[in-house]
This record gives sequence, structure tokens and C-alpha cells, in this order.
Amino acid sequence: EDILNQVRQEHELTDISFKTWLLPLRVHAVMNNTVVIVVPLENAALSYINNKYSLPLKVAIAEITGFEYEIEFILEKNIEKSEPKSHIVPTINQNIEKANLNPRYTFDTFVVGGNNSFAHAASLAVAESPGEVYNPLFLYGGVGLGKTHLMHSIAHFVLNQKPETKVLYVTSEFFTNELIEAIRNGNNTAMSKFREKYRSIDVLLIDDVQFIIGKESTQEEFFHTFNDLHGAKKQIILSSDKPPKDMETLEARLRSRFEWGLIADISSPDYETRMAILRKKEELDGYNIDDEVIKYIANNIKSNIRELEGALNKLIACAKLEKKEINLDLAEKALQDIISPDAPKEITPQLIISTVAEHYNISSTDLSSTKRNAEIVLPRQVAMYLCREMTSTPLKAIGGYLGKKDHTTVIHGADKISNEIKTNEALSNVIDIIKKKINPN
Ligand code: ADP
Ligand code: MG
Repeated sequence: EDILNQVRQEHELTDISFKTWLLPLRVHAVMNNTVVIVVPLENAALSYINNKYSLPLKVAIAEITGFEYEIEFILEKNIEKSEPKSHIVPTINQNIEKANLNPRYTFDTFVVGGNNSFAHAASLAVAESPGEVYNPLFLYGGVGLGKTHLMHSIAHFVLNQKPETKVLYVTSEFFTNELIEAIRNGNNTAMSKFREKYRSIDVLLIDDVQFIIGKESTQEEFFHTFNDLHGAKKQIILSSDKPPKDMETLEARLRSRFEWGLIADISSPDYETRMAILRKKEELDGYNIDDEVIKYIANNIKSNIRELEGALNKLIACAKLEKKEINLDLAEKALQDIISPDAPKEITPQLIISTVAEHYNISSTDLSSTKRNAEIVLPRQVAMYLCREMTSTPLKAIGGYLGKKDHTTVIHGADKISNEIKTNEALSNVIDIIKKKINPN
């Protein structure tokens, strides 16, 4: 119905044409990437429809399903009544299953933020023209930051564009185990089957390749697979917890292969991105949670998106079990073992600088610069003082953070503040407040 209406609107069909030509059409089957449409009319009608509507239908089907299909028309009288009907969804799902993909990990559900925008752009470019732009694409970053999600997104995208593409996602553990199995069987057939399988792939995604390294036989076989695929312009996408240059037991020749294409990192999400991810997840799961609760989670869980999602899941589960509404009280209670407010935050010069800057409403960059405007000089001395009092950072390093080349300026600035607060109560108060902001406990 949607597809037909789309054609009707797009081509401004009259009621009469619509009812005569389009309304009677039915999808008979979807096979491979072809939609078979039944025309319950005469031969002449079939050729008219074929000439006039096959392109508009093709376009509308692509727009509505997100997949490009070929179209084939058949006459009603030519179909066997007993032929099984299938519809669009299963065909797609089969591909996704074959490629080992999680249906939720798509570009649509991936939130782009400062921490991952480069990796995201690179992934999208590769997904749009596999084998043609960056090969291999090497994604790296810490645990739970979205590497696997991005890899699956690429695979989904490729399959949506061209369902016949051979896409395979494997963990490197799986790859290794399969290889070891083939080697253990000790015969050539097992080995050549293994090779055949991997070398027939158009887009190969291997997750967490850090596990391949250190195993000589897998590196060897992986090297050959890589060369074959790369030579045939097949796309390779790899992920790891660190960049190739830091993978110590990686053979030099593999390292250089990994560095052939593009290396993109994903880092920890900032506050805005954490908020956006929580909002997205909430939306996908069909909840509507108070802003203060979302902010509470985003404020307290910082390093890892998996934990961020885990916290939200736990809260939702708690609310269901206890039949309570989701609010800040419940969040604090449900998440107390994940978020421990007592855990001391590490006090670093960076933390001090950003807190001081925020307090005086100036930018951290100005505070760390060599600028000497009146409105920056005092806050900078405060920062020097606090860095000296609250951290064990060497004075020279403190100077480095605050745009000063030597430690004498730091001593001078810090001394000035410590003398001044003996008599200046207002400043002493300010210092206390900033100290509490830095260290609430
Ligand atoms: P990694 O492979 O880097 O360890 P995953 O890809 O498994 O991390 O991500 C962990 C979880 O966080 C997954 O559920 C994933 O969907 C989610 N996630 C990670 N990054 C994002 C993002 N940018 N937007 C939405 N969800 C994300
Ligand atoms: Mg992963």
C-alpha cells in the first residue's frame, strides 16, 4: 500500500489511472533481490505496466524498504497457486543472519559525537564504496566504545545497498578457532575449505584482531587471506583495542598491511554524546524518562558506553520489578553499586583548570595561555595555588599547564594567593568553593 501510494503521489496519478493500473498489483514473492509482482489483467496491460510503471515502482520500493530490488511482472494466470509466498523481510534477514549481524547495530542507531565522528565518517565512506576508498579500514579504541557497533553498521549498509554482496563479520576468536580446527584436521581439504570460504568474501570484517596476534599460525594464514582479498580489491575492516603500532607481537609484515589503509580511533564520549546516546536508547526502547535521571546517569558514568547502557537497562528493570516510577530517587538507589559517589575523583591539574575556568566564567584555553589580561591573571594564580595544594604535580609541570615556562612564576603566583587569603575573606571563600567543586568529599 505504501509503495503504491508513493508512486501515486510522486507521479501525480489520477484516481482512474491509479485504480486501473496500480491498485490491482500484488507482490507475489521476493526472491534474491527481485520483487515478483502479479498483474491480474491481460497481456497488453502487463506490457503497458512494465513500460510505464516498472521504474517508478522500483524507486518507490527502494525508498520505502531501503533496499534496491529488481522488478519482475507476471500474469495472474501464469502463477502456480501452490507456490509459496514470501515477503520482503525474510530475504533481508537471511543475509543479515549469514553475515552474523546484530540487527540493532546500524548507522541509524549510532550516535555521532566528537569521540567517534572521524571513525563514523570513515566507516560510512567505506560502506558506500567497499574496496574503493580505504582498505583496510582499521578501527581502534577501548572497550565498549562502539567499534563492533560501527562494524555491523557498515555490513548492514552494504547489504542494504547490494543484497548479493558476500559480507562476513567474524570475531578474531572465531576466525582463529576455525583456522586451528582446519589445521588440526591435518588434511588439505579442511585447509582449502577454510581458504575458499574466506577468500570468496567481498567484505570481510574481523573484530578484535588483538587476539590474533601472538599466534604465529593464525598470523601466517591471516597474512595470506589479507593479501588475497586486498589484491582482489575486496574490502577488509578490522578492529582492535589499540593501533597497529602499539600491537607488540604483531609481525612487522602484518603491521604494515594494517597501516596501508586508514586508521581511525574512537575515544570516550563527552557529556553531550553520553546524553545523546541515552536519549537514543530510551527512544529505541520506547521509554520517556525524566531529564534529571538521564543527566544523573550521563554525569556519573563516563568511560564506557556499554556501562552507560547497562545503567539505563538496570534502572528500567528495577522500575519494572518494583513496580515503581522511574525518578531520581529510584535511579540513585538502583545504580548505587554502579555509581559510587564516594569513589574519589582523581584530582589532576586539568580538573583544577577546568573547574577554575568554569568558576570565573572564562575558557580553560585562556587560562592555560600566555595571555595576561587582568581578568585572567587572578584565576591563573588561583589555579597555580590549587595545583600546588591539591596535587603532587611538580611546579614546572604546573607552569606548563598554565602558560608559564618556569617554576618561579608558579611559586610567586601560589604564594600570592596563600598570603592574600589570610586577610581577604572573600577570596578565601572563593577558594573554598572551588576546592569543593574540585573535590566534593
Ligand atoms: P566495542 O566493540 O568498542 O567494545 P560496542 O560496539 O560493543 O563496543 O558498543 C558497546 C555498546 O554501546 C553497544 O550496545 C553499542 O550499541 C553501544 N554504543 C557504542 N557506541 C555507540 C554510539 N555512538 N551510539 C549508540 N550506541 C553506541
Ligand atoms: Mg567489540
